Amino acid sequence: MGFEDSLPDSLPDFPPDCLATLTINLGTLIRNYKSCIQLAGDTECAGVVKADAYGMGITHVAPALFHKANCRIFFVANLAEAIKLRRILPDTVIYVLNGVFSGHEGYFIKNNLRPVLNDLTQTALWQAVSPENRPACAIHFDTGINRLGLSPKETTQFINDVSARKGLDISLIMSHLACSDDPDNPMNAQQLADFKAITRNFPDIPASLANSGGILLGPDYYFDLVRPGILMYGGNPSKGAMPKNIKVPFQILGKILQIRTVDAGQSVGYGATWTAKQSRHIATINIGYGDGYPQMFNNCGWVCIKGVKVPVVGRVSMDMITVDVTDLYPQKIDPECDVELLGPHITLEMASEVSTLSQYEILTGVRERYQRIYI
Ligand SMILES: *Cc1c(COP(=O)(O)O)cnc(C)c1O
Repeated sequence: MGFEDSLPDSLPDFPPDCLATLTINLGTLIRNYKSCIQLAGDTECAGVVKADAYGMGITHVAPALFHKANCRIFFVANLAEAIKLRRILPDTVIYVLNGVFSGHEGYFIKNNLRPVLNDLTQTALWQAVSPENRPACAIHFDTGINRLGLSPKETTQFINDVSARKGLDISLIMSHLACSDDPDNPMNAQQLADFKAITRNFPDIPASLANSGGILLGPDYYFDLVRPGILMYGGNPSKGAMPKNIKVPFQILGKILQIRTVDAGQSVGYGATWTAKQSRHIATINIGYGDGYPQMFNNCGWVCIKGVKVPVVGRVSMDMITVDVTDLYPQKIDPECDVELLGPHITLEMASEVSTLSQYEILTGVRERYQRIYI
């Protein structure tokens, strides 16, 4: 008997306000998805929901995209994510970016999942599966990122040797951009040219190149399907300005546990890394690295209280941060105030800039400890 079996059946009863909250506005997320379609000139638009929909919760995000926005093609990273998504959405196309591995074929068939085949071993493995009930597949050609996909040599072989693709039902050919965040990087044009040359060998098969950053590079990059992730979730994939129709769909709110006064010369937090130059008022907030608020924000993060940005002082602890609320004290702050750590006021862009972490990493770092509220 596992220890889980000895746990009581009923959920523990606790007041929800003892936890920090993560509110996810699915309406805003859906509007972002629709804005992606608009940005991509009405090209068909897949939903990328890997890593639990970038931490926002695949069980809520995927059905919203399917039912409220007609999204019919989803991408996940691995087979486990795909099988979970299949249980949520029985009737949609699901691509598995990591591809198929020996012994896993039956799971793809049983769950009607499409592998993204990344090398000639995977194409051969899929060819060997009986075509009866075998789902279609995508072929990923590597045009320079050197991460996944058929190498240039394998690509030539796949194109020239008919037996290498005999019998495969290919529903998509794709590639992935290495530098789509930087419109000035010459690698974008090079990957575009290489991918275009590949697509000429598959005139009847839909093609896809653009992630969020690729969408912002313009119409040459759209092909037949775009694959936005971070734009849907309110991040800016580009060094350029954020498209104005993209809004932040989530908000992380902490609570004030204490407000204290520190005198000049006193320090705050582990390691005593911050010292008050004059007397300061410090609020302790109930979110720390155990919630996914990383120590990269030590002495450089910002939070927002009643519309005012205040700085994180000292180190981020496991369950707490400390912020300098002197400018708000005492009239404009009380223990009931909500404290935004990430959301419409403290955007992913801003948090990324001060911490040097990528927006993707900050977002997917969000943990389970929050009370989640979907609206
Ligand atoms: C993650 C991923 C995407 C989505 O990328 P964003 O930059 O979040 O838009 C698209 N395509 C592939 C192959 C990916 O791995």
